[in-house]
Amino acid sequence: MTESEIFDKFAQIVSRSLRIDVEQVKPDMQLTDLGAESLDLIEISMETEAQFHIFLPDKSILDTAVEVFGPNVLERDGYLTEEGKRLVLQRVPASDAGAFQGQVAVKDLQHYFLKVGTWVRMIQGLLRYTPAQCAGCGGAMTGSMGFRMKCIRCGQEITLRSGEEINREWVREYYQSEYQLQFGMPVAVHAVQ
Ligand SMILES: [Zn+2]
Repeated sequence: MTESEIFDKFAQIVSRSLRIDVEQVKPDMQLTDLGAESLDLIEISMETEAQFHIFLPDKSILDTAVEVFGPNVLERDGYLTEEGKRLVLQRVPASDAGAFQGQVAVKDLQHYFLKVGTWVRMIQGLLRYTPAQCAGCGGAMTGSMGFRMKCIRCGQEITLRSGEEINREWVREYYQSEYQLQFGMPVAVHAVQ
């Protein structure tokens, strides 16, 4: 699926959940600006998972990263540290890098994560982990219950990888290759399971 196909499908989900015109949904708008409250966000998440066959992370990449890095490394007193900005910049497209210069409040980052365009890219990233074809027989895969996909030809089922697990894996890799190398820190300072 192309980014614009994902956007169109996601915009439909948002407009149905919030009962607004699909034309109102624009990439640079925050879901909260469109009227989404926490229950709406849950509904939008669940619909997105069901319709795209993906398993969204339940934490932001920053929250997952803070668990791996430990406190006060990536954020301090509600602001991203230089190290925090460096990590976030690895995750945002170059066109958005300008938003993460100077002082960046964690709150600003949360707003960024609520943007329609950010969701579209997150969906696109997770779709890479959703197989379209069966590894066994090459048949088409279709959604099954509980984050599973089923082959329509041979019936083989697979479980989707969770976005949380995918994020955590990325953070650990970043931590080991970018952060520890730079600072020469010993491996597994923090509780990396
Ligand atoms: Zn099959």
